[in-house]
Amino acid sequence: MSGMTFTNRTALVTGAGRGIGKAIAEVLAAQGVTVICVSKSAESCGAVAAAITATGGKAVARAVDVADGPAVAAAAEALLKEFGKIDILVNNAGITKDGLLARMSEADWNAVISTNLTSCFHWTKVIGWPMCRARWGRIVNISSVSGLVGNAGQANYAAAKAGMVGFTKSVAKEFARRGVTANVVAPGFIKTDMTAGLSAEVQTAAAQFIPMQRFGEAADIAHAVAFLCAEEAGYITGQVFTVDGGMTM
Ligand code: NAP
Repeated sequence: MSGMTFTNRTALVTGAGRGIGKAIAEVLAAQGVTVICVSKSAESCGAVAAAITATGGKAVARAVDVADGPAVAAAAEALLKEFGKIDILVNNAGITKDGLLARMSEADWNAVISTNLTSCFHWTKVIGWPMCRARWGRIVNISSVSGLVGNAGQANYAAAKAGMVGFTKSVAKEFARRGVTANVVAPGFIKTDMTAGLSAEVQTAAAQFIPMQRFGEAADIAHAVAFLCAEEAGYITGQVFTVDGGMTM
């Protein structure tokens, strides 16, 4: 066997309206996976699902605020009923609210923790157990190199992203006997709306710390995620897969 095999799989991808999540939805759909695209606004996930469907793929869109625990739980339950199963869960939705610790508000701390980390708890709690019962599942959580090495001005974001690593490894240990894997993909600097706001000077300075001397593309992350979701990756669990052009090697 070679390449990536997907047999009648359904995936839920959060933050699929733009950037990395959009690329993950597109790559999985191109592999024949039915993709449930979740984002905060109905417009962005709707456009992604429509584009996938227009090119012959299978996708639907659902607007869910991942920071709203009860809304996530209700959406996850409803989607499990509607689709019968969700085989692949990609927790990708994320935000930044950067600032030095001395000036960071508790609201900015809480917003980043709930959107990036607590959301993983709510989705995985509902969707993970049916995966275990089915004896097959793939969970991929999109962290960041900030969560691995820290970053000045990102105490909230780095804490959330590091929390995702501990969360994922614990889930991996709980689910391993049941054929469900859980892994982290930790991107470095990737060209999306999230990094578009950085000034040209900051982007140039950042690129100097990357051995490949450039930012990555959303598709670079998407292909790593897709591999971890494929049949062939069934013996890989609890791992942190860094995709950063060599920045943190
Ligand atoms: P992005 O372009 O800003 O897109 C973020 C996506 O997440 C959007 O679709 C957005 O929905 C969705 N989202 C945000 N808050 C949400 C909420 N409360 N409920 C539901 N959906 C929500 O970001 P990105 O660069 O693709 O980043 C994707 C993930 O990769 C994030 O977890 C980020 O931390 C991580 N990451 C990114 C980089 C990078 O360099 N870009 C590096 C390391 C890690 P709408 O479309 O509705 O706004």
